[in-house]
Amino acid sequence: MKHCKAPECNNEIEKGKFCSQECFQNYRKYYKPKKSLRKDVWKLMSEWVRRKDAGFNGMTRCYTCGNPVHWKEANAGHWKHGVSSASYLEEDNVRVQCVACNQHRGGKLEEYTLKLLDEIGRERMERIRKLKHQTYSKDEIREKIKYYQKKVDNLNKDIDL
Ligand SMILES: [Zn+2]
Ligand SMILES: [Zn+2]
Repeated sequence: MKHCKAPECNNEIEKGKFCSQECFQNYRKYYKPKKSLRKDVWKLMSEWVRRKDAGFNGMTRCYTCGNPVHWKEANAGHWKHGVSSASYLEEDNVRVQCVACNQHRGGKLEEYTLKLLDEIGRERMERIRKLKHQTYSKDEIREKIKYYQKKVDNLNKDIDL
């Protein structure tokens, strides 16, 4: 007899690997690689950062040049780069940018640095620099997914009113 491969399930099965569709989903969630979890949280976080200050018409402003841009056409740009580090998922390190600033002007780093200094101050910027040398565990990332999912859901609720 074979057994279901899902975590915490040991049901006997005749064929296949799982006893139910639900067990298959649980298995996929449980074993999702970190890289893929990071993609999930980044998608939510990026949407939150781009939408949170947008008006009802969807318009927001580029952090580094001040030009108006629709959140859907904007980027969420990092001050300190490093895709696999904890700083990548730090909200202090992410701001709305137009495509021109983020992709063609090297992130407008000088402007970005000066504005952040005014906005969050040196201590929080030092924190971002430290986070660049840390990584998050899968569980920490799962927590962040929940956190940003809630924030995005709340934005959607506002629109439904
Ligand atoms: Zn099962
Ligand atoms: Zn810009």
